[in-house]
Amino acid sequence: MDKAKRIILLGATGSIGSNTLEIIQRFPEDFQLVGISAHKKCQALAQIAETFQVPSIALSDESAYQSAVEAKIFSKDSKLYGGDQALHQLIEETQADILVVAIVGTHALSPTLKAIEKGFDIALANKELLVLGGSFVTQAIQEKQVRLLPIDSEHNAIFQCLHGNNTKDLKSIILTASGGACRDTPIDQLQDITPHQAKQHPNWSMGAKITIDSATMANKGLEIIEARWLFDLEPHQIKVTLHPESIVHSFVQWIDGSVLAQLSPPSMTFAIQHCLFYPDKRANPKPSIDFDKSFSLNFAPPDLKRYPCLELAYQALKQEPYGGAIYNAANEIAVQRFVAEEIRFTDIPKIIEHTLNNIQTPNTHTLASLLKIDQDTRDFAQQLDPKKL
Ligand code: NAD
Ligand code: MG
Repeated sequence: MDKAKRIILLGATGSIGSNTLEIIQRFPEDFQLVGISAHKKCQALAQIAETFQVPSIALSDESAYQSAVEAKIFSKDSKLYGGDQALHQLIEETQADILVVAIVGTHALSPTLKAIEKGFDIALANKELLVLGGSFVTQAIQEKQVRLLPIDSEHNAIFQCLHGNNTKDLKSIILTASGGACRDTPIDQLQDITPHQAKQHPNWSMGAKITIDSATMANKGLEIIEARWLFDLEPHQIKVTLHPESIVHSFVQWIDGSVLAQLSPPSMTFAIQHCLFYPDKRANPKPSIDFDKSFSLNFAPPDLKRYPCLELAYQALKQEPYGGAIYNAANEIAVQRFVAEEIRFTDIPKIIEHTLNNIQTPNTHTLASLLKIDQDTRDFAQQLDPKKL
């Protein structure tokens, strides 16, 4: 590489954020961190800003920003943005080559569209923004001819398997799923799963929301919709297989019957490093798969009674252009209510289903109407009483 790639990292204090920082730190000649964000964790963000000498910083929570300003915890040499518009402003006023989107939820949609408009490549960990606004993001990507590089491990695997092949010959993709924290819990005991239990992932170390989504498989549901947008697929071309070892990250199946897979140990650094260096490759100090040892890999079709959120994702796809937005927002509210111990684990799919079946949608499809549906869904899902569903 001739000169260092300039990176803006949204969500620097999270799980994907810290894996990304680990790679940037390992290759100081190749990367320059020009912007970072966090929501509330100002001390952790200040530490990152100092370690990487970052010139532009955003704290998206207004009160965290106010306290950081009062306590003067950031160097006065760096530019600090705060509040609702902070991410958007950071991107508007910072020149970069690539934006790494590692924040949770849908707040990433507007800053990502801004970054595309400015011609930055996008390395996308956040799946919620594609589920909400996939048509707007993919259209903007095509217009600006920038790269959309998937960090989500399954989509990164598919991206790698498709490389150099003719996508018109693709029959289907098969997303692998670990089964999450409750995969061995008897179905009749799922209603008693606590938030603490749902946060114990058997293979991956990730943020709280995605770990609970893995336990319900709403995460795989979101990934089905994410794949539809990333790879322009019909719903019947997207399949899911249970793979408890999380070594194969996904498969692609061609019309001639052959199948390709991408394998690596369950660490997000493989996918993140792939995106940051794309199309080049560099050595990764993490141990790879050791073929001098024997091991086996298992695959099985998922039980839809255990994972009703999976089937609901296909229903959401049928309800385009708003189904994804409704599925995502209803799930986000249901997870918040489960964490607050207001509803049971098994109420999460009930809330998604009832919301998908009852939200009124307009005939038009604009960014404004999409954001309105997102808000309407949240209000609706918030007041549902699962005992009456
Ligand atoms: P995390 O909870 O560990 O970190 C979230 C980050 O987002 C933090 O930096 C936090 O400050 C920021 N954030 C939180 N709320 C925010 C808000 N309202 N506005 C702006 N920023 C906010 O999450 P994570 O596990 O790193 O996941 C990040 C994204 O990547 C999610 O969309 C997730 O689905 C996706 N993803 C994560 C993994 C993983 O291994 N962790 C794998 C695949 C995809
Ligand atoms: Mg994934």
